Amino acid sequence: MIDYFGVESLLKEGERIFRDRIRKFVDEECMPGIADHFDRGTFPTEIIPRMAELGLFGLHVDGYGCNKMSHTVYGLVCQELGRCDSGLRAMVSVQNSLVMHPIYTFGSEEQKKRWLPKMARGEAIGCFGLSEPDFGSNPFGMMTRAEKQKDGYLLNGTKMWITNGSIAQIAVVWAKLGDDIRGFLVEAGTPGFESSLIQRKFSYRTSPTSLLVFKDCFVPEGNLLAGAKGLKSVLSCLNYARYGVACGALGASIACYQVAEAFARQRRVFEKLIASYQLIQEQLVRMVVEITKAQLLTYHLGRLLDQNRAIHTQISMVKLNNVREAMKIARMARDILGARGILADHQVIRHLCDLEAVSTLEGTENIHTLIIGQDLTGISAFY
Ligand code: FAD
Repeated sequence: MIDYFGVESLLKEGERIFRDRIRKFVDEECMPGIADHFDRGTFPTEIIPRMAELGLFGLHVDGYGCNKMSHTVYGLVCQELGRCDSGLRAMVSVQNSLVMHPIYTFGSEEQKKRWLPKMARGEAIGCFGLSEPDFGSNPFGMMTRAEKQKDGYLLNGTKMWITNGSIAQIAVVWAKLGDDIRGFLVEAGTPGFESSLIQRKFSYRTSPTSLLVFKDCFVPEGNLLAGAKGLKSVLSCLNYARYGVACGALGASIACYQVAEAFARQRRVFEKLIASYQLIQEQLVRMVVEITKAQLLTYHLGRLLDQNRAIHTQISMVKLNNVREAMKIARMARDILGARGILADHQVIRHLCDLEAVSTLEGTENIHTLIIGQDLTGISAFY
């Protein structure tokens, strides 16, 4: 593994042991079949029980059958999974940050007892419905409405680009109740709720990205996430998810570098190894410089989150940086591989395609730039 600045030495022994267990799982159980899944556009559902067994669901949750770990460890898990495939990382980051975290933080005791143990065992998968066809970067303009009824709410609206939506047993759905944004738990099979897979994606191939449609869908009072109120609650979920995405992008960068370096050391062109050419070395060095910077930034963010000292603009910076640099690294790695670079078996093209989605989801580069710009200047340039 690349560790030019000894970041490994900053990890606690328990963190390293847990990370190594996940690394072994990724290398032995996820890597072998992932190119086929990418090719077919399917998620390897057989690894969901293994992910649960390894304690990958419920990393932010104390009790309820979950295996709470530090944010640093959650980041290392996302990095290892992202080294293999962004869809695998998305399965774990959505389940943890966007579904179990809001149920744990904003849910009633009954909701926690009902869903968290099942989700920790991988027997229930969740999804997070915020974005809509016309509202992505600005989710607060959402059109989905909740209307108060005698014992619950009627939901109407459409959510789009929802990771895991078509395989989820439970959806955390955000809707406007009057002028407020509120969160609701909607179970699969609820009358008036339909989910379908978005087809013909050339990115995030293994991840089931879905459309959720609510037509007069009745949600009982007990399914309101009563503790979640407004923008602040939504953003608290996004913070953890964005950190997970940033860690996954770092994993993808590492994978691309490793493939490119190994190839450069054995590929002969003009009777010499391509690794011996200055132009190739320059690309490899650029990749390692950026990976090292991302490792230091990401590791430090993990520790700030662990100490409850991270601010959302720092998370924006790490998401922006890690994804932008991962895209450049994947592009350079593909170039070094020559024609082989377009084959799924060599990994790099999968990451290159997936990073296209990663750059959009959890906030585009423009949006994170605006968030940081507002923090620096005190002036909002969003509209
Ligand atoms: P738009 O908001 O329409 O933006 C289009 C372009 O305009 C972008 O380049 C953007 O940067 C730019 N732009 C927008 N506003 C400004 C501005 N003020 N200044 C300058 N430029 C601007 N959502 C969920 O709720 N749950 C999920 O599980 C989920 N999973 C996803 C999985 C995938 C594979 C993808 C691709 C998306 C997923 N999303 C999910 C949705 C994702 O969060 C949105 O796609 C994202 O927020 C961008 O929204 P948009 O696609 O509507 O783009």
